[in-house]
Amino acid sequence: MRYKNIPLDFSKPFDSNALSECAQALSDQYPFLGIGYLGKSILGVDIPYFILGEGKKEILYVGAHHGMEWITSLLLVRFLLDACELAERKKSIHQVPLEFLLERYTLYVLPMLNPDGVGYQIHGVDEANPLYGRLISMNGGSTDFSRWQANARGVDLNHNYDAGFWEYKQIELDNGIENGAPTKYSGECPESEPEVAYLCNFIRFHENIQGILTLHTQGEEIFYQAGCVLSRKQERIAKELSALTDYRLSRTEGSACFGGLTDWCVQRLGLPSYTLECGKGENPLPLTQAIPIYARLRRALFRFPLFF
Ligand SMILES: [Zn+2]
Repeated sequence: MRYKNIPLDFSKPFDSNALSECAQALSDQYPFLGIGYLGKSILGVDIPYFILGEGKKEILYVGAHHGMEWITSLLLVRFLLDACELAERKKSIHQVPLEFLLERYTLYVLPMLNPDGVGYQIHGVDEANPLYGRLISMNGGSTDFSRWQANARGVDLNHNYDAGFWEYKQIELDNGIENGAPTKYSGECPESEPEVAYLCNFIRFHENIQGILTLHTQGEEIFYQAGCVLSRKQERIAKELSALTDYRLSRTEGSACFGGLTDWCVQRLGLPSYTLECGKGENPLPLTQAIPIYARLRRALFRFPLFF
């Protein structure tokens, strides 16, 4: 199915090729939509982000840290498409006039941080992959990559940020993870992975970023604590997001507490950041959930900037 002239297909898995086709079509259709590139993944795949609006206050949305969670990329591209469409027609949504939103804010939308991991999860690993032998061994000797979460060399990107990284190393060892793996291996040091290093630099260099929303699946819950004292703003917005989505507020526990983007932003930068665990079920969530999840999230996606 096509939305307008955009090849956004909610009936099949969404990989980096599908994303770049959408990026091309979106920028053809909406000249006011900017596209930038965060950098390249380990396998040399571009990591695009979109720029919408011209406001001073900047807001960042991030999807697909994890291979099995590409449905979050679909959700963010759909959000962009709706925002562009409404902006073009000077409409409002959820009491947010798009003209006002894009005058006051600049939205950065990064739908897929981990294109290589998403590719492995959807298509498996090709024998021509330069890391083939190592990958099969990291995957326990199996050629079935349908449970792959990490990047191209077995690092779980959402444990690669510099927040409780070394504490996590011990938990990792206790869990028998000493090396690259389908999930939960944090890498040799914080920001060892280019995808994470590029994103951290992007955030460091964009000093006007006010808030970050990161989409994962699944659980219908919001993580916002980071093992530190929280600002009132961080707490207040968490409650508001919970009210907008009807997702419950959760405490991070065990290994989920360390090394994530939200942890790094809250702990190290004091930047309001939230992890939304979208949908419910077993990863990867079935495509039939994409539209219902989007319907439930849309209000929070459009209203999030207004908290700043
Ligand atoms: Zn995730």
